[in-house]
Amino acid sequence: MEDVLIKKIWDDVLNILKDNIVATTYETWILPLVPHSFEDNCFCVLSGQNLAIQIIQKHQKQINKALSQVCGKEVNFKVIYDENLHKQIEKEKQKARKEEQKEFIKNLETRITSSKYDGLKQMYSSCNLNLKYKFENFVVGANNKFAYAVAVAVAKDPGVQYNPLFIYGGSGLGKTHLLQAIGHDILFNKPKLKVKYVKAEEFINDLVNSLAKGMDKTGDKNKKMNEFRSKYRNVDVLLVDDIQLIEGKARTEEEMFNTFESLHNSGKQIVFTSDRSPDKFENTPDRLKTRFQMGLLADIQVPDIETRMAILTKLANDNNINMPSDVVEFLSSVYNKNIRELEGAFNTVSAYTSINEIPITVDTVKKIIGYSDRHKNTTVDGIIDIVAGYYNVSVEDIKSTNRAAKTAYARQIAIYLAKEMTNESFPFIGNCFNRKHTTIMYSHQKVKSDLLTDKNLAADLKFIADKINE
Ligand code: ADP
Ligand code: MG
Repeated sequence: MEDVLIKKIWDDVLNILKDNIVATTYETWILPLVPHSFEDNCFCVLSGQNLAIQIIQKHQKQINKALSQVCGKEVNFKVIYDENLHKQIEKEKQKARKEEQKEFIKNLETRITSSKYDGLKQMYSSCNLNLKYKFENFVVGANNKFAYAVAVAVAKDPGVQYNPLFIYGGSGLGKTHLLQAIGHDILFNKPKLKVKYVKAEEFINDLVNSLAKGMDKTGDKNKKMNEFRSKYRNVDVLLVDDIQLIEGKARTEEEMFNTFESLHNSGKQIVFTSDRSPDKFENTPDRLKTRFQMGLLADIQVPDIETRMAILTKLANDNNINMPSDVVEFLSSVYNKNIRELEGAFNTVSAYTSINEIPITVDTVKKIIGYSDRHKNTTVDGIIDIVAGYYNVSVEDIKSTNRAAKTAYARQIAIYLAKEMTNESFPFIGNCFNRKHTTIMYSHQKVKSDLLTDKNLAADLKFIADKINE
């Protein structure tokens, strides 16, 4: 069949698929496919990405359906990996990356050196904004689609809709990334606006310092506090990261409430991020809680495997690392709850393999990240069971509020082993033990430091761990 015709068929198929497949998957894996031939009732496309073949298999049904819709009959479909196409794609990517970098630096330099862009200068020097945390670098999946869309909307029209925007979700899922992306976007596209990014922790420290300093040399009792207030109120956009840290700190909550009122009343945009939704702020006064809730709440969930693979693939591409598809899949399946940990593993693996000049394979990666196949089937409940047996206490007691010394000790050990021997997050383990994730973190840290001095404990732990691995 003629090339033009093949291309026309594929264009029509793409048009159908575009609306039926998640945008990230469509753009990353389907759109780059090149129609190749249509012979013996088999429509064949080429892919320059090894990984595409596996991913596309999952969407085989939708593709077949679209093809038969366009061709008016059942048609077979095949993807073939093409080395030349791969090289071509890589070359284009590299070229685009270089262009992008050049453009970016040019842009940044002109803006930073021009006094009109004071806000930008100030933000980059005082806010520790990470240049990587931009919208362009954020991979959109089903888990964060909504939060991403509203963050973009807020950056486009700050203070108009969705005020405040409250983004919440577990650790390492991209909240800070999105928050800073809003900041970058506004600074670049609306450089006249004053943007302030602040971690809640900094806000707390700043307040404490301002209160402590109190009177200055001139005898003005409120000078420091006035300075504090104007710093956070003379802005057009206030981005507050990890707002949950102010929970229960009454003075900070009051000051945050006043800051909020002042900004909100004058139509200024506020964006919060938090590790939990406002209704889980148990010790926060209602009046502040209702302020958190009065705009828009957007949560970020744990990304599915496809999104994790897309993030890892992007990371590898951006760093010019050739990571085989089975390694991408393996790492994405092990680090399944936290993108920060996935990135951490990627950094360790790429640094280790490049320093030691060894190829990146699933086997070497397993060694580098200390992964043991035996841990794969280890569950938190399985660990609690064995620890309870070893210390002769009941599983119910470990999971309850029972504070008897023996039970509390066994509980700590079980928590430590749960963190060390599974890939579960602190909040997940917290749920298994009916405890807050901060309690879990504390117990884990306690056993970890006890281990440094207590040889008997080390021996006990080894014995229990062996039992768990049996
Ligand atoms: P949080 O603030 O929710 O704890 P971060 O925003 O610090 O998480 O994200 C942790 C790391 O994971 C960052 O390096 C961030 O760039 C990366 N990350 C998280 N989600 C994504 C995503 N959807 N696309 C690309 N990178 C992401
Ligand atoms: Mg964060």
